[in-house]
This record gives sequence, structure tokens and C-alpha cells, in this order.
Amino acid sequence: MTNDPILLTPGPLTTSRRTKEAMLRDWGSWDVDFNRITGRIRESLVKIIHAENTHECVPLQGSGTFAVEAAIGTLVPKNGHVLVPVNGAYCQRIAKICKTIGRRHSTLDYAESAQVRAEDIDRKLAADPSITHVALVHCETGTGILNPLEDVARVAAKHGKGLIVDAMSSFGAIDIDVRKQPIDAIIGASGKCLEGVPGMGFILIRRPVLEKCEGNSPSLAMDLYGQWIYMGKTTQWRFTPPTHVVAALDEAIRQFEEEGGQPARGARYAKNCEQLISGMQALGFQSFLPRALQAPIIVTFHAPADPAYDFKRFYDEVKQRGYILYPGKLTQVETFRVGCMGHFGPEGMNGAVAAIADTVKAMGIKRIAAAA
Ligand SMILES: *Cc1c(COP(=O)(O)O)cnc(C)c1O
Repeated sequence: MTNDPILLTPGPLTTSRRTKEAMLRDWGSWDVDFNRITGRIRESLVKIIHAENTHECVPLQGSGTFAVEAAIGTLVPKNGHVLVPVNGAYCQRIAKICKTIGRRHSTLDYAESAQVRAEDIDRKLAADPSITHVALVHCETGTGILNPLEDVARVAAKHGKGLIVDAMSSFGAIDIDVRKQPIDAIIGASGKCLEGVPGMGFILIRRPVLEKCEGNSPSLAMDLYGQWIYMGKTTQWRFTPPTHVVAALDEAIRQFEEEGGQPARGARYAKNCEQLISGMQALGFQSFLPRALQAPIIVTFHAPADPAYDFKRFYDEVKQRGYILYPGKLTQVETFRVGCMGHFGPEGMNGAVAAIADTVKAMGIKRIAAAA
């Protein structure tokens, strides 16, 4: 098919040929056929989390962070107060967004190897009634840790607070069911577990919540209320849509459904994750997280303690062997990450482990275990 390296990165990721081919046609943004595609995508996305009767899908141009910033800006009013539990880089980004757009926020800080705890959120919400929203990262891609969405949703609902979930790296692969877990807004993106190409995000917002969001947003282009109203009236995107990205996502969702939807996608990634961790362990690598907290999306490994190891060279050597790794995102320990997502078939993971084994040998790395 192609000799391009396989991306083991959490978006952009390796897409299928069908998805790539969907981008070979140009679309006019006014064209009814194009706007039918947009409509179809919006309908498919709400179904994935069983929200067809409760939530509206608002797509937005840009990378995933644009969608997170748009969601915070649109849902949280100027006098709101957001509680952000923090156990990694993407949680920290939400806190930074609040600060940048002038929304009051408080953090609950955890170690990067620890899950967010619903009990702590419960206590914090009881102690500070000025908090209006909780903003949770479902799978914290910085490490690959899974946060307890169901428990956090229960606690937020108990206190009558809005819950905004960054489900960017879990949407489509890990079960999210808004009939069981009350959530005001769920944020995802085209280029993650749905295996489209990057370029747009989408926010699924509970309808009565969205209806009350007029005038909240500090931004014109990232006002989800504005996008929703305009799309409702015209079926079109308010400003130029990323037409090729939309067409690719439509085709990617078709393949997602053919594969068997979220359960099948999740099972495939879990198998990839299993193959990866056991293969890497056999080489002597240690994963950063205990298995019980690990989401089947991306795995953080400790870098080898051997002085012959250098990430840049390691990356280049593995790339020459056909696989693209991802740098670590931890401040305290030296790590690298390997994604389990993308259209690369079961041989992809074993091939990656073989490429890493070969690289270790080529670089003369002897001590693979991390320094204690
Ligand atoms: C990918 C990702 C984002 C968005 O990152 P971008 O670089 O803006 O696409 C946000 N949150 C999480 C958890 C992610 O994995």
C-alpha cells in the first residue's frame, strides 16, 4: 500500500486508505450534498454516547484544544467557577484555558500516576458552593491514565453542578453512556479514536444547557451557541468548514460502524495495548502506570537507564524501521509514549515491538530497566 511509517501517536494517527481517498474530492461549503454529510456526522456522533434524545452535536473547526476552549467559554458564564481535577498535562491545559479566557477556576492536584478521586470532588463541591462546573479529562493522554468518569458524573449531579468532559482520546473507544452518566458536554475530535484526520472537534451538549448559553462566549469564532444556531438555520457551518476533514470523518465513521462501533474499537485497542505491554516487558521495559489504571489508548514507558539511550536517536532508529513514537510528557521522570490507536492491523503492534528490540540492539542499550 504505502511505505509511510505507522504512527503510534495519539492523533494524528494512521488512517485507512478509504479514509484518505475520501479526501480526493473538493466540496463547496454551500453545497447541499456537503451539508448532508455534516448532518450525518452530527447524528452519528450523538448515537455513539446514546445521546440522540438529549444532546446536540456542535462541530468546530480546529484541533481538539479549540473545542475544549470553545466548550469552557460557551458553557461557563462570566461569573462561573470551574473545578479542574489535575493529574496530567491535558488537565493543566484546561486550567490554563480558564485563566486565559477569564473564567475563575480551582484545581484539585494529584500525582500523574494517580487517578482523580470522586470523593475529593464531592468534598470540594460541598465546601465551596461558588463552584458551578467540573471539567474532567476522561483519558489523560499525558500518561494514558483513565479517570473515573461515572463516579465523577454521579458526584457532580448530586451537587447540581455542570460537568464538562474532555473525552478527546477516549471517545469512540471507551464506553460513555449519557443515559447512565449525566454529562453537560462531551468533547471529542476527528483525528483520534474515530480514526479520521485532524482538523475539527465536536462538542455534544445537553440541549437545555446549550439553549441557555447565548452571550457567554468571550470569542466570536469559538462560540458554540453561535455555531449551533447558525447550523440549525442553514445546515451550514458558520465560517469556512474544513471540507476534506469532514468528508474523511464521515468515511471514518462508516468504517467505525462497520467494525462494530465502540465495543469493537475498544476491543481492538485493548488487544493492541496488551500486545504492546507484554512485548515491551519481555524486552525489559517498564510501563509508568499500573495495569489497573491504564487506558487502552496510549502507554507511557520509562526510558532505559543506560547512558547509551537518547530519545532523539531512539526515535530516529525506530522511525527507520517503520514506526513513529511519541515523546514523554512527564516533568519528573524520563519517559516515552506509544499509542495503541490507529488503522494498522494486529501486526502493527508486534512489528513496533520488533522495531524497538532491533533499535535497542543497534544503539547498544544494555540496561533497559529504569533507574530506581
Ligand atoms: C489530543 C487531546 C486534546 C487536544 O489536543 P490538540 O493538540 O489540540 O488536538 C485534548 N485533550 C486530550 C485528552 C487529548 O488527548
